[in-house]
Amino acid sequence: MSTVLHLARPEIVALQAYEHALWDTRFERLHANELPWRGVADSSVAGLNRYPEPHPRELEKQLAALYEVPVECVVAGRGSDEAIDLLVRVFCRAGQDRVVICPPTFGMYGVAARIQGAAVTAVPLLRDRGFALDEARLLSACDAQTKIVFLCSPNNPTGNSLGHDAVARIVTALAGRAVVVIDEAYIEFSARQSFVNAVAAQPHVAVLRTFSKAHGLAGARLGALIAHPDIVALARRVIPPYAVTQLTIEAAGHALAPTALAVTRERIAAVLAERARLAAALAELRGIRKVWPSDANFLLVDFDDPRDALERTRGADLLIRDVRGNTGLECSLRITVGSPDQNDRLIESFR
Ligand SMILES: *Cc1c(COP(=O)(O)O)cnc(C)c1O
Repeated sequence: MSTVLHLARPEIVALQAYEHALWDTRFERLHANELPWRGVADSSVAGLNRYPEPHPRELEKQLAALYEVPVECVVAGRGSDEAIDLLVRVFCRAGQDRVVICPPTFGMYGVAARIQGAAVTAVPLLRDRGFALDEARLLSACDAQTKIVFLCSPNNPTGNSLGHDAVARIVTALAGRAVVVIDEAYIEFSARQSFVNAVAAQPHVAVLRTFSKAHGLAGARLGALIAHPDIVALARRVIPPYAVTQLTIEAAGHALAPTALAVTRERIAAVLAERARLAAALAELRGIRKVWPSDANFLLVDFDDPRDALERTRGADLLIRDVRGNTGLECSLRITVGSPDQNDRLIESFR
């Protein structure tokens, strides 16, 4: 099967994209009804009185270089959240199609599907196998209405990576049947190999990467959908023009400079060192049942008394995430690895 077009909503395949104002930097702009003067506090390079590039090709070239994929395989958007929304809107017809998720996992997959009117089938991860994929159940859950399977690796909130071979087998089994989305928001904190190099040859695979975690730019809202050009072309019809703001384009440009990337690598190493220290310290404490292994910048921790643990951290002016609402995580809290000082205060609050 050489395409995913038959999986997409026919009205999106037929859609005429919005025709935005021409982008040609050789000319001065009297065609977009912008003001010719900058705002008073505008310290941007390009001037925020001007619209940004409608689809930021230069930024996408830089992202393609970072992720080592062809530029035809990249769409930049407002975080991975936008990529999730785009995929659901491209592939799922309201009231007819469905997505498959593997809980406990990131909540946005189900929310985006429900907003679009798509049904959600849950195939839980196997807690007693370290939250591994239930491959057989996952494949048998994929019926003719299933358009997207969301896999998150490393998974939020459990922290484990899904087995590379298991994901590869699912990708192979679903060729031509459904789009497999692999959310790699935390992969920079893991030693695992990314699936980005699978997208050029596998038209039904999409990988999500983000600047919100390892790159430290959550406030800028930047993510990348990395997929076969067929999926990219469909996503481009749905993404609004000017989705990525000029401030974000400039912030990303700074973050992608070699010196900034070197700092990012140092910070990832610092998080990994703190993750190991924090995990070891927590495992020693009374009242903590289990610190789950993590491939991400957070730890899933099972407590005897999670309510007491939440109160103690608040008492130390720290917020941690209550994930007890997830089936199988009734005693669990999710703790982001912070600075050494924050981690010390957290450990102290549990003593
Ligand atoms: C944090 C996170 C993201 C990032 O979302 P952005 O919209 O890029 O900030 C994506 N997926 C998962 C699983 C996450 O935990």
